[in-house]
Amino acid sequence: MGKAYKSLSVNLKNKGNRRILVAGGAGFLGSHLCERLLKEGNTVICVDNFSTGGMDNIHHLLRFDTFSFVRHDIVEPFDLAVDEIYNLACPASPPHYQADPVHTLMTNVLGSLNLLKLAVRYKARIFQASTSEVYGDPHVHPQPENYWGNVNSFGPRACYDEGKRSAETLFFSFHQQYGVDIRVVRIFNTYGPRMRPDDGRVISNFVVQALKGEDITVYGDGSQTRSFCYVDDLIEGFHRLMYSQGPITTPVNIGNPCEFTIGALAEQIITMTGSSSRIVHHPLPVDDPRQRQPDITMAKRRLGWAPTIALKDGLKSTIAYFENQLARPAKELAVVA
Ligand code: NAD
Ligand code: UDP
Repeated sequence: MGKAYKSLSVNLKNKGNRRILVAGGAGFLGSHLCERLLKEGNTVICVDNFSTGGMDNIHHLLRFDTFSFVRHDIVEPFDLAVDEIYNLACPASPPHYQADPVHTLMTNVLGSLNLLKLAVRYKARIFQASTSEVYGDPHVHPQPENYWGNVNSFGPRACYDEGKRSAETLFFSFHQQYGVDIRVVRIFNTYGPRMRPDDGRVISNFVVQALKGEDITVYGDGSQTRSFCYVDDLIEGFHRLMYSQGPITTPVNIGNPCEFTIGALAEQIITMTGSSSRIVHHPLPVDDPRQRQPDITMAKRRLGWAPTIALKDGLKSTIAYFENQLARPAKELAVVA
């Protein structure tokens, strides 16, 4: 493990309870996580390469004197003294993670390796944001954690799916070999404020299209399913997993088991926005999973966690967020890249 590391210089005005690194903290989920950790009185250092995340998501956190951010790509080794690490760094939307598949894979493999080495060096507990994509196009429904999945290793989604699978293996190997205290969450489709209007995932696409009166682009016939979790529920699940007593040496599914077809989602968003948009059908992307629903028995039993926010309520605040975003001048929406 003896390699030269770039020591990250962090500009912090004050010191909080625990010193926490959030890799990918300027993204959609990362920014909500940073906010929660800061409100609890911690020092939070966001390390992000600003590829899909941006200042827009973390600007409001600059009022905390225990918050700092560093622009850095986790693929490059670095040094930073920390008590805890959360790894959320990775583009999550198919068009974004497929834009540079090699870098997506390296972010998951080399990036995770770099963070795990930090965890060893500083004896820090480390959390990995894994994904329901490790189940691929599942043959078991709903998906429990002990299902090994059905993943294409060379298709267009492989850089993400196999990257996340490799990252899980690295986490469990570091636990077995070096005793690293790990937590691994498998996140199912999550939505909410601070997704980018051009994120490319289904809820942001449909809401933005509906608000602009543009065609709603349903891929395939719309009969494929997903189960959508609101961001606040997810962050509560993260928290319970990270701070649960005793080791949890398996991945844990966190998601909302309420399953919808993509066609039904499009209809609901049209109704809720009062939009005049039409539904149009585009070809189904290669390897698009047919169905997805988390089995959350383990999260309920081990963490006492279950989602509380229904899709219609989560959509209400998500629609309000995008209405606000779309009303802003275009240059204000620019993402730092
Ligand atoms: P996002 O794209 O909004 O956030 C990812 C963040 O990571 C961005 O700020 C981006 O700039 C940063 N990043 C990417 N590559 C990096 C690198 N090499 N070095 C440093 N920073 C890097 O996506 P999100 O929805 O917030 O997802 C966050 C994490 O959760 C990801 O790891 C994703 O795979 C996982 N996840 C999310 C969902 C979901 O539904 N939102 C589902 C499953 C898994
Ligand atoms: N989808 C769609 N129209 C869009 C974007 C996505 O019909 O404009 C579909 C996509 O094909 C998939 C589902 O919605 O079946 C969820 O896609 P998303 O990219 O949000 O997440 P993932 O496929 O990674 O679960």
